[in-house]
Amino acid sequence: MTTVPPPAAPAPEPISPVQAAALRDGVLPPVEEVRPGVWTLAVPFRFGVPDATLVYVVEGSDGALAVIDPGWAADDGLEALRDGLSTLARSLDDVALVVVTHLHADHLGAAAAIRRASGARIAMHRLEVEALGREREDAVANDADVATWGLPEDLRAGVVEAWGSGRRIGLGRTSEPFADLLLEDGDELPVPGRTIVTLWTPGHTAGHCCFVDEADGLLFTGDHVLPRINSGIGLGGRTTTNPLGDYLASLGRLDRYADLEVCPGHEYRFRDVVGRARTLARHREERSRHVAEALDVLHEPTLFEVAARVPFSGGIGSMTGLLLASALTQTAFHAALLGRSGEIRPA
Ligand SMILES: [Zn+2]
Repeated sequence: MTTVPPPAAPAPEPISPVQAAALRDGVLPPVEEVRPGVWTLAVPFRFGVPDATLVYVVEGSDGALAVIDPGWAADDGLEALRDGLSTLARSLDDVALVVVTHLHADHLGAAAAIRRASGARIAMHRLEVEALGREREDAVANDADVATWGLPEDLRAGVVEAWGSGRRIGLGRTSEPFADLLLEDGDELPVPGRTIVTLWTPGHTAGHCCFVDEADGLLFTGDHVLPRINSGIGLGGRTTTNPLGDYLASLGRLDRYADLEVCPGHEYRFRDVVGRARTLARHREERSRHVAEALDVLHEPTLFEVAARVPFSGGIGSMTGLLLASALTQTAFHAALLGRSGEIRPA
């Protein structure tokens, strides 16, 4: 049986004309005031799509700055952050706190450099810190998974290199601790004069967090909810829970924040986080349906054979390395959530 999928909901409208124009023109948007004492600026991230991270700078009542997701350190990322701060007549020296939504380099990357420059503390969810400490171990453990996926021979080495023991770990990291302040759900950030609360939203990574500033009407969403991109799932190290189940539950956690302006980690600010979360959840339902349909028609398939029947954008045939590993692990998460993992034959 085939079902006609519902038409994809349009992406939410940008709040900021300058961010919308910059995205259209393929340039970085300028520094913009979001609220009194809250600004956003973009830093480049050229190693992936999207190619810029939105950084948020929040001033406390003591004049010190907190930076949410400082972005990628390499190349001119840190330079873009310095430039952005200088247009506010501020510098890295003024940063007292670096808050990180999740462990990916396009968000966490510059944190340690800022700490070295200013003595700022780095705040991150405990699970992200644990995952960073386990990166090598997890990458090696991934090899055993990859061996069971039934990958064509010519694709396997690329996947091991991107997802398994061939991965480059801790690019540019030193022996410094990953974080000074371990966050848990509900924790208030130490920003004097403001109430910004940690909202744990696992899925994209296990310790991904959003941050809620109800007084200013702002919801910082990192990569949990983006206006146009469907975030990947389970991209923060090995977990004991199903990242897809976690992600869907985390989308549900946003229901309370329908009125807040969404400040995502990429693209542009928008409203109606609940509508966007519903669209993202529907996309997952549809993918689950495709996985179920593949399992219905295949007899003892490998994970690769199941994924090959799922209409990933571009199709699995166009994928290699990290993208392919992510498509395969997502297929496995969907099968597990359907209670049908047992139907997939380890190769
Ligand atoms: Zn990101």
